[in-house]
Amino acid sequence: MDRQPSGAYAPFNNLAKGTHICYFYANHKDLADAVVPYLKAGVENNERCIWVCAEPFDAEAARALLRQEHPELAGLLQMGHLTVVDYQQVYLTGNSEFDISAVLDRWSAEVSDAINAGFDGLRVAGDLSWLRSSPSLQAYEERFCAFSMQEPIVALCFYPAAGRDHIDMLQISYMHHFVLLPSQSSWHLVPSARHRDLIWQSLLDTLTKGMLVIDTSGAIITASNRFLELFGCTALSGLGSDVQEFASRFNVSSITGRVRPEAAHLVSSGDVDDYWRAKSPSHGDLELLVNIKAAKPNAIIPEVLLLIFHDITGLRTRDTIDGNFLQVVSHELKNPIQTMRAIINLMKSSLPDPEIPVYKYIQLADSCLSRITGIVEDLLSTGQINKDTTVINPVLADLKTLLVEALEPYLTNPRHMFIRRFDKQRSVPAIVDPVRIHQILANVINNAVKYTPPGKRIWVDLLISDGTALLVVEDEGIGIAPSELERVFDQFYRGSKTRDKFSGVGLGLYVSRFLARMHGGDLWAETRPQGGTVIKLSLPVLTDNLENPQEGEGMKCACSRD
Ligand code: ATP
Ligand code: MG
Repeated sequence: MDRQPSGAYAPFNNLAKGTHICYFYANHKDLADAVVPYLKAGVENNERCIWVCAEPFDAEAARALLRQEHPELAGLLQMGHLTVVDYQQVYLTGNSEFDISAVLDRWSAEVSDAINAGFDGLRVAGDLSWLRSSPSLQAYEERFCAFSMQEPIVALCFYPAAGRDHIDMLQISYMHHFVLLPSQSSWHLVPSARHRDLIWQSLLDTLTKGMLVIDTSGAIITASNRFLELFGCTALSGLGSDVQEFASRFNVSSITGRVRPEAAHLVSSGDVDDYWRAKSPSHGDLELLVNIKAAKPNAIIPEVLLLIFHDITGLRTRDTIDGNFLQVVSHELKNPIQTMRAIINLMKSSLPDPEIPVYKYIQLADSCLSRITGIVEDLLSTGQINKDTTVINPVLADLKTLLVEALEPYLTNPRHMFIRRFDKQRSVPAIVDPVRIHQILANVINNAVKYTPPGKRIWVDLLISDGTALLVVEDEGIGIAPSELERVFDQFYRGSKTRDKFSGVGLGLYVSRFLARMHGGDLWAETRPQGGTVIKLSLPVLTDNLENPQEGEGMKCACSRD
């Protein structure tokens, strides 16, 4: 292959100061083909250029080459714009010792001289083939990398390819920012793994929040200092090699159950929030809000997930009220509520005629009590969720009956038009906790009623497919902003459209989703394209033989309406 590509100067014209490149050459011609355009571009950029040569391409041979191929460059040799020297003059002291600090001091002085002489920086091409000992080579290149990023210097280090295996070359390339590779029409600067790490590191160093970067298999790529510090680690290896190991080392568990800390779930779920609990050797019990974001891959950075951690250990307890408190208070409220319910039922049954006005007031008291019951149930459930003590008691039940029962209190509600789309005769057997399913449905239907203006429609549907039932409550109410469709499931989160206009606690959907997931199902919100909200509850069912009832005019309004 001809190594002098036509676009030979392209990558060398705009090298950022601090760039440190390596190049593996096969023979003299390869070396000349890379170094000459590199130096020529430096001269044109007003950089002082130094070519440090080693056997067998010594300074004498290098000067001869320049004179022959580029007489105009040879002319610059006399003017101090371009210098060609043998490596001993730069790298070795009077005792023929390779003293790294002395070499770096020398480069520092050369940079200052170049700047003082009116140049824009220093461009070095250096042959390190003479430095056989890899520990010294590594130490030098490592320190040069750090040095070069502080100074207006660019460097191309060339190594003979002969006698090096791939591991050797990879190790050398890691000590530089780029590897120079020939291609048919131009040279390519390929970022080395080090370059990628440096980009991450500089990004992470600016972060005060904990950040973990993992690849799509869950392997930990890097972490911010704050994250290491949170888990009492001085090195990345302290976290474990992947998220599974990290999770088991620090007892990580997901509080919401929304995303479990296994890589597969993180990978498939990008761009979500979650709450994690963990045990840190240095900080004890931690509660962390985790924003998980998928970063788009590009030429330098492969596909990764960014996990940004906010330490909410103290906050959460204050903001969300301790689980014990919630449980005690809500439990205490349950008894008087039950007594009031019994009294209301007694009053209703002792009235001879439901048409008399006082019956209406009793109805009103009844529905207020239902609301209080719902809030107390949600508070009790939140206390259980926060203490990890939620229990469900699954039995064989009919989802259709549960749905009809949950709709019951609203059938006499004249404010909305309920439209049932499912077949009231068809049973949908499932193993569920009927009390919990009622709690979910009551929350969802109550929201539809609360957030839908009077006179508007609310549709209720029950669909079966692939062993899953889908209970759908759709309304043409005020809707949820698309950016909040997920957030409304957070504890105490209330939507921007409702928080100032409607009363509420912000627990209904949080508790309901948790309970749905405990049943192996899910609960989510969608925007209704024509305006309004669609809430969907999926639950596993015992059979999928059930056909979906055909929606038709005859079915509509069967549930009730004003
Ligand atoms: P509560 O805990 O007393 O039920 P809440 O209704 O505010 O209070 P959630 O039921 O958790 O709490 O609902 C959270 C938020 O989601 C609501 O504040 C509201 O902004 C939004 N939301 C829920 N359902 C609907 C709906 N059908 N239409 C419009 N917004 C809704
Ligand atoms: Mg609600």
